[in-house]
Amino acid sequence: MNINLNLSTTQHSTMQHTMLNKTQSQHLFAKAKEIIPGGVNSPVRAFKAVGGNPIFMKSAKGAYLIDEDNNTYIDLIGSWGPMILGHAFPAIENAIFEAVKGSTSFGAPSRREVEMAELIVEMVPSIEKVRMVNSGTEACMSAIRAARGYTGRNKIVKFEGCYHGHGDSFLIAAGSGAITNGEPDSLGVTTGVANDTLTAPYNDLSFVEKLVAANHHQIACIIIEPVVGNMGCVLPKAGFLQGLRDICTKNNIVLIFDEVMTGFRLAKGGAQERFGIVPDMTTLGKIIGGGLPVGAYGGKTEIMDCISPVGKVYQAGTLSGNPVAMAAGLAMLNHLNSHPEVYTYLDAITEKMAKGIEVGAAKLGVNFTVNQIGSMYSLFFTASKVTNLEQAKTANTAQFGRYFNNMLERGVYLAPSQYESLFVSAAITHDIADAIIAASNESLAMALD
Ligand SMILES: *Cc1c(COP(=O)(O)O)cnc(C)c1O
Repeated sequence: MNINLNLSTTQHSTMQHTMLNKTQSQHLFAKAKEIIPGGVNSPVRAFKAVGGNPIFMKSAKGAYLIDEDNNTYIDLIGSWGPMILGHAFPAIENAIFEAVKGSTSFGAPSRREVEMAELIVEMVPSIEKVRMVNSGTEACMSAIRAARGYTGRNKIVKFEGCYHGHGDSFLIAAGSGAITNGEPDSLGVTTGVANDTLTAPYNDLSFVEKLVAANHHQIACIIIEPVVGNMGCVLPKAGFLQGLRDICTKNNIVLIFDEVMTGFRLAKGGAQERFGIVPDMTTLGKIIGGGLPVGAYGGKTEIMDCISPVGKVYQAGTLSGNPVAMAAGLAMLNHLNSHPEVYTYLDAITEKMAKGIEVGAAKLGVNFTVNQIGSMYSLFFTASKVTNLEQAKTANTAQFGRYFNNMLERGVYLAPSQYESLFVSAAITHDIADAIIAASNESLAMALD
């Protein structure tokens, strides 16, 4: 182990920091690059944006990750969200072991799927009916198809900087005629698809009004991250979400909250509970699977009943509602549903960390903005407020890259990009939070030169 993270804060911050031993990680990465594109199965895991090579993880427990060279890190990604209770949470592990004994897949309906649907409908009241899928991407792709089937309209509206998975319709940037159609943001996405996706700047209600007026009776749905995690953590301005709700109601547009990240994280009922807004549909993922590959989409009965086999919108999945995945998700959601104090704790500990990091950055005279809500936060290296993608892009990403690597050397594993939110888990104790703040202060000082 490189740094003993169980030491007290003072010991932690005064330790000598040697360069990490990365022998095994480097060996694995060299091999991986030859047979896996870029050596990674999802591009966010690459260290392209921060410099250096990815670290290969071996195991994890509570707040800590352990890599193939036996270095230990405080984990601030939590598998990009799912690990809200920390790694290897006993109730989830046990539920998985128990489920495996009764088969890993049936391809027929099973009891846990009903229990899961009941729990989701209870925790997220805007959802009257729900369909399980295998990822957040699938949930979002399926939700817009249902919205199109329900309304009989083709176009969708998304916001710049929001991510809804890698479905073709979402990999779209603003086009030159920005209020009429978008442009492909990835090779392999056709202009035909891009024509049906309109984009708007986040937090810009009057732009959305113009968009809706210019595309009268053509817009099936507006899909949005009610709190954004995918351009770094960005909050909705007061009145923005309610404004979207009103526009959608007035124009018979389906409002979809993509709560793949915020669902079961910002409150047990997600961002919609926290902000008191009722969407027509909701997409879920990440936490809902307790670390296994699960997604879900749901909403009003009259929309969900457009889905096959009731209606004519086709959507299916061989492994959807998988018994092992349902067991993990049920254990996770049952724990969150019966322990509301988890959210009170997460809010407090994250606010303390964000404040501590903010104070340290202010002392050093760094240009920075900290955005935080519940257990999500981002430190942007810019003096600008960050309320949309354009402002997020003013961040000094080279400085972030140095900060990231300094934190890694100090045993803190951040998301390897300026444009990601960090996720705090309930396994982060006050001592660990103090150690993170101390590491941040040292890393910031070094990131300046
Ligand atoms: C992660 C994420 C997705 C995609 O989920 P996957 O499980 O990675 O396919 C969609 N929307 C949001 C808001 C996300 O954060």
